[in-house]
Amino acid sequence: MKCIILIAAPAAGKGTISKYIEDKYNYKHISTGDLLRKEIKNNTEIGKEIKSILDKGSLVGDDIIKEVFGKEFNKTKSNIILDGIPRTLAQAKMLDELDEENDNVEISKVIHIDIDKEIAVERIENRIICENCGSVFNKKLVKDLKCTKCGDNLISRNDDNKETFLDRYDTFLKETKPLLDYYGDKVITIYNNSTLEDIFKNVDELLKGDE
Ligand code: ADP
Repeated sequence: MKCIILIAAPAAGKGTISKYIEDKYNYKHISTGDLLRKEIKNNTEIGKEIKSILDKGSLVGDDIIKEVFGKEFNKTKSNIILDGIPRTLAQAKMLDELDEENDNVEISKVIHIDIDKEIAVERIENRIICENCGSVFNKKLVKDLKCTKCGDNLISRNDDNKETFLDRYDTFLKETKPLLDYYGDKVITIYNNSTLEDIFKNVDELLKGDE
């Protein structure tokens, strides 16, 4: 089982790129953000605990991530693309343990998606997502507020405003960006400042042979 890790600032395009890879290649998309938002929507015990953390733009504790991610990981047999995990050194070590303990699990690529902060802010202000499948859309480009993939409602996330974005961005710089040094030579950086077509071309180059 191959694991691709995506590391990127908020709104850099992790979700969009993950869905592209899931649709075109043989990978399942696991987004910790989507899993956490589902806990909130379903009003579970974890959901009640984490709502204010997500709304503030801070990180949820590693133990909760381990539980929520672990459940999803254990159900999965195919190659996976990890969107939103690891975000801390402790989470990176947890994934290394999975890699070491399971002969069939291999962290095959670490993709860093780079974006200018100003472009990310602009995107976040126009972003809407599907409540059900997490697909990402631009408010200005949709005809109605229905997901073209699964038909469910498109909503704005509570944390998709400029103020919370800036907190999330700082958290990224402090907690997550240092993981690029941790993964060292495994990291491939692609830029997402231009069109989606361009970035998808870059992704296709990277995943040649994985169809
Ligand atoms: P974005 O990449 O746009 O910030 P995500 O959907 O990946 O959005 O994450 C939304 C929020 O969920 C984060 O701001 C954080 O509060 C929480 N979260 C997601 N993944 C993790 C994680 N691995 N560790 C801690 N908190 C997380």
